[in-house]
Amino acid sequence: MSINLKSLISVFNADWIGSDTDIFVDHISIDSRSLQNGAKTLFFALSGANNDAHLYISELIEKGVQNFVVQHIPENVKGKANFLVVRNTLKAFHEFAAYYRNLFNFPVIGLTGSNGKTIVKEWLNFLLSPDFNIIRSPKSYNSQVGVPLSVIAINEKHNLGIFEAGISTVKEMANLEQIIKPNIGVLTNIGSAHDEGFQNTEQKINEKLVLFKNTPVIIYQKNQLVDKCLTAFSVENPLKDRKLFSWSFTDQSAAVFILKKETKNDTTTIQYQYNNESFNLEIPFSDSASVENAISCLLVMLHFKYDFAVIQNRVQMLYPVQMRLEVKNGINNCSIIDDSYSSDFQSLKIALDFLESQKKKNASKTIILSDIFQSGFSNEELYSKVAQLIADNKINRVIGIGPTISAFAVKFPNSRMFLNTASFIEAVDDLNFSNETILIKGARSFQFEEIVSLLEEKTHETVLEINLDSISHNLNYYKSKLANDVKIMVMVKAFGYGNGGLEIAKLLEHHNTDYLGVAFADEGISLKNGGIKLPIMVLNPESTSFPSIIQYQLEPEIYSIKGLNAFLKIAREKNLKDYPIHIKLDTGMHRLGFEDNTIEELISTLRGNSTVRVQSILSHLATSDDPSHFEFVEEQISLFEKLSSKLMSELSISPIRHILNTSGISNFPNAQYNMVRLGIGLYGVSNDPAEQKYLENVGTLKSIISQVRTIPSGDSVGYGRRFMAKKETKIATIPIGYADGISRLWGNQVGFVTIKNQKAYIVGSVCMDMLMVDVSHIECKEGDSVIIFGESPTVVEMAEALKTIPYEIMTSISQRVKRVFFR
Ligand SMILES: *Cc1c(COP(=O)(O)O)cnc(C)c1O
Repeated sequence: MSINLKSLISVFNADWIGSDTDIFVDHISIDSRSLQNGAKTLFFALSGANNDAHLYISELIEKGVQNFVVQHIPENVKGKANFLVVRNTLKAFHEFAAYYRNLFNFPVIGLTGSNGKTIVKEWLNFLLSPDFNIIRSPKSYNSQVGVPLSVIAINEKHNLGIFEAGISTVKEMANLEQIIKPNIGVLTNIGSAHDEGFQNTEQKINEKLVLFKNTPVIIYQKNQLVDKCLTAFSVENPLKDRKLFSWSFTDQSAAVFILKKETKNDTTTIQYQYNNESFNLEIPFSDSASVENAISCLLVMLHFKYDFAVIQNRVQMLYPVQMRLEVKNGINNCSIIDDSYSSDFQSLKIALDFLESQKKKNASKTIILSDIFQSGFSNEELYSKVAQLIADNKINRVIGIGPTISAFAVKFPNSRMFLNTASFIEAVDDLNFSNETILIKGARSFQFEEIVSLLEEKTHETVLEINLDSISHNLNYYKSKLANDVKIMVMVKAFGYGNGGLEIAKLLEHHNTDYLGVAFADEGISLKNGGIKLPIMVLNPESTSFPSIIQYQLEPEIYSIKGLNAFLKIAREKNLKDYPIHIKLDTGMHRLGFEDNTIEELISTLRGNSTVRVQSILSHLATSDDPSHFEFVEEQISLFEKLSSKLMSELSISPIRHILNTSGISNFPNAQYNMVRLGIGLYGVSNDPAEQKYLENVGTLKSIISQVRTIPSGDSVGYGRRFMAKKETKIATIPIGYADGISRLWGNQVGFVTIKNQKAYIVGSVCMDMLMVDVSHIECKEGDSVIIFGESPTVVEMAEALKTIPYEIMTSISQRVKRVFFR
């Protein structure tokens, strides 16, 4: 994104008060706390009921932000920055998102409905990601702020968008329609949620349909009411060739008619009819909501003309999307049921049932509940019902948070009420939670996730969190750079560059990657033992490993006559025919491979040989990331061309040829041959800063604070007293050290960690299992989360400071650090 601010004047109808020159921004922010705010940020000062961002402008200017969209210019910042002055900053934010969306022209799926939007979105992302570079709303960003935030994250590499739109009252959807502009509309289940803002269900459906005003395809579950609304809608919003693509359990006129539905154990099989053919689809769920959501996904796949085999294959792998009712271990022997995403009356009933079923023996039951929205009842009636429900469920203690529930405190015996989440958090120590099963249930706006993280037991553990979605994203990014038919081998050597071998291999198998590459036979064997079926090339097979290579059907890279003869000997003993091998040529790296002068002997050894088959010919580039040596790369490529062509013509073979690694893919698009070998890029690191911004961070190394202390001026910290406090200093100790892979060179104020979104520099030397940081400026305490690397610092920053490369930082993280994978 690079946007000329002056071009926005007309988009917003704004007054420009600032510099005369042209100014370009590449980052949009509405969060004053974000670490990403900087000189190239355009900050929209939204002003809401609880918070007015205009108050933070001077602070932001100090941090280097120069450009703001505001409703008024606060006195203290006049003349200190550039301002686009508008009537309403939220409206301008919407207009910006709509303007930005219009810069892109690719299919966009718009989702709305009462239930299931987020699940269908996550599932579609999973089902379609092998074929598309997808941008989708994060979590359930479906609001008047969330939708524009999702849309402005689009970049030039995306080729499919999936956005959800949620509304709580009439007239909200028209804004979101302008921003999302879907080409494919999916209407998920219309339930009773959010009824409060509408007169009746019909009005609610009509409002949701506004999202599809300009949408040529609408996918929905057929029923009389929706059909009636759609008929009226189509008259009001005529669109030539609009396709209504429906499904039904009961109505045979639906495009997809479900004849039969059978649930056994955890799987549901549906028989459906489509285009006069009938199919049996297995869905790995038994509850009807999940089945309906899966059917919505099925229709999208049918619309994209997927084969049935592909549909079945992918649908089978659908997974539960965790959005509510997670059970977690809490502090002081409590357990926590995390339902910090919703607060309608219906789901309260479900959650209370769940609380009872999860209650620990001898534990008492506690509920922390926010104001309830979207009930359809008057407040008096609603809170009477809630109080009754809580009494019926024999809840021992009730904590209410929010102005409305507080106003009805008398209805709840044994309760404590707080006006907002912050005042609860202040009082939390006095509430002495222990031995309780705690249901934490609140509307999103109350941000109960903060309460969950406060009451959750700290796992006293350093973990490397791996974001599997980011891996998919990065894979698709590099795929988008390949010509048609070019295959992709992903290097998962060294435990997937430190990120976890098997889990990543499984994901790559899902994405139909063509090949995996490992360094040693052992690595390949453990992948095969883990059930990986993709072909695996072994870069550095020792001759002692040849028997197991054959046993596990791994494919060796052969780089010398000696190695070839050793392999042939064993292969002949086993009577193998056409066993796939990969011939490595040395074109200038001078590491492994056949050189120019050994090619003749190679040819004569392979000629007429039917024991092995040359599956591929490869070479490796020495400097594909360094423009000052690009001429050398060109020489390597032309030598590769020459030697491989010779092999091919003399042996009359046409194997796969490949020479490009990650930066080769970026810098030498003409040398893709039939395959490329992707490594570091998959894990979110590019050697090219311009390309880095298209990649998503994959690994986040996290730990916690073990202890906090304040030392007086003059005291020292750590071995060798290498840090001397010049003033009173607050020190936090973190249980991660050089034995975990954190270089000692990163200590002594070279490196930092991130705590509560702020930098904390390492003071003194990094110890074997611990390090100490200066947290004088940060409000933090024992148990708080610490980021060692991830978004900040990035491994790229660390590598620069440590005069090494990101590869070394990533692969150094010791195996004693637990890897945790998430989507
Ligand atoms: C590791 C490796 C790659 C991948 O390199 P990246 O720079 O991580 O993309 C490709 N080919 C060979 C032979 C390798 O050893």
